[in-house]
Amino acid sequence: MAVTARAAALRAQGRDVIGLGAGEPDFDTPEHIKEAAAKAIRDGYTKYTPVGGLPVLKEAIVEKFRNENGLEYASDQILVSCGAKQTFFNLCQALLDPGDQVVIPAPCWVSYPDIAMLADAEPVTVFAGADQGYKISQEQLEAAITDRTRLLVLNSPCNPTGAAYTRSELEGFATVLRDHPQILVAVDDMYEHIYWGDEPFVTFAVACPDFYERTLTINGVSKAYAMTGWRIGYGGGPAKLIANMQKIQGQSTSNAAAVSQMAAVAALTGDQGCVVEMTKAFRERHDFVVSVLDALPGVRCRPGEGTFFAFAEATGAIAATAGIEDDVQLAEHFLDKAEVAVVPGSAFAAPGHFRLSFAAGMETLKEAIDRLGRCLGKG
Ligand code: PLP
Repeated sequence: MAVTARAAALRAQGRDVIGLGAGEPDFDTPEHIKEAAAKAIRDGYTKYTPVGGLPVLKEAIVEKFRNENGLEYASDQILVSCGAKQTFFNLCQALLDPGDQVVIPAPCWVSYPDIAMLADAEPVTVFAGADQGYKISQEQLEAAITDRTRLLVLNSPCNPTGAAYTRSELEGFATVLRDHPQILVAVDDMYEHIYWGDEPFVTFAVACPDFYERTLTINGVSKAYAMTGWRIGYGGGPAKLIANMQKIQGQSTSNAAAVSQMAAVAALTGDQGCVVEMTKAFRERHDFVVSVLDALPGVRCRPGEGTFFAFAEATGAIAATAGIEDDVQLAEHFLDKAEVAVVPGSAFAAPGHFRLSFAAGMETLKEAIDRLGRCLGKG
C-alpha cells in the first residue's frame, strides 16, 4: 500500500509511473455480483446484521467449504469478517497471549508478523529461499517450534512467492505438529482459485483430517472474485474459537457491511465462470512475466503455482548497480529511473528480492519489463 501511494504521488506530479505494487486484481467485480449488491440495497440490506454474518451468507460459505474443499462446517463454525485480514486479526486477538510465538514461513504476506505483534505475540519467521522453491522443510518447522509456539501460519499459494505446498508436504508438517498439541494452524487459502499447480488444490484440514479441530481455514472473496474493496473474508474452524473471535469483532467493527455480504452470496453461489476466466489471464501473464524477468541481468525468477505475483531474486542486480545496496534501494531506483513500482522483498521478510504484481494488462507488463531491462543495462 505504501508503494502504491508513492507511485500515485509521482503520477500526480505528471510522471508516467506503472504501478505493479498493488495486491489486487486489475479486473472489475463481475457484473452479476454488482447487480446483486444493487438489488440488496433496494431490498433494504442497509441495517446491522448479526455480528458473525447474515445466515444466508454463512450458508453459502458452508456450501463452498463442502463442495469445493470437502470440508464440513456447521454455521456456528463460520465467522464473516471485513476481509480475511480481519479474520486473521480476530484470530490473533482471541488466541494469543503476550509472549506466545507465531511461526510464519517466509517470504510471507506483510501483515502476519504485524498482526501477531498487535496481539503482543512474537512472530518467528522461518525463511526458505529460491533454492527451496520458497517452501520451508519439515526440519525447519521442527527447529522453529518452542514451548511458547501457539500458532503456525500456512499460506498456499503464497503471497508473495506464488509457491504452493503439496499434499505430501502438508502431511510432513502434520507429522511434526502431532508432537506439539498446543499449536493451532491458521490456513490462509486466499489464492486457492488462482492456482495452476500440478496437483489439485488441497487445504490443510482435508490433507490432514486429524487436524480438523486444530485448524482455522481462512478465505475470502477479495482475490478470486476481484472484490478487494467490498471487504468480505471468512474463517471456518472450531466453534469455541469462532465464538471467541466473534466476541473480538463484536467490539471492533461489528458485522461486515450488509450490502457486501449480499454481494458475497452472489459471488459464492453464482456462475463461477468469472473465476476461471480471470485465472486463465493470470496464468498467461505469469508465464510471460516469469520468463522475461528471469532473463534480466542479475535477476532470477522461478515459476509459481498461483497468485498474481512474480517474486524475483535480485542480489546480482543489486551488486551490479552503482549506488544500490539493498532491495529497498533497488525498488526506489526502479521507481525513480524506470518509473515502475514494485515492492521490495524486505517487506515480506525476504531481502534481496522484489515482488511484481501481474494484475495488469499484457501491454503494460511488456512496457514495464522493457523499462526494468533498460534500467538494468539490458539492450
Ligand atoms: N491473505 C493474503 C495472503 C493476502 O495476500 C491478502 C491480501 O493481500 C489477505 C489475506 C487479505 O485479504 P482481504 O482482507 O482483502 O480479504
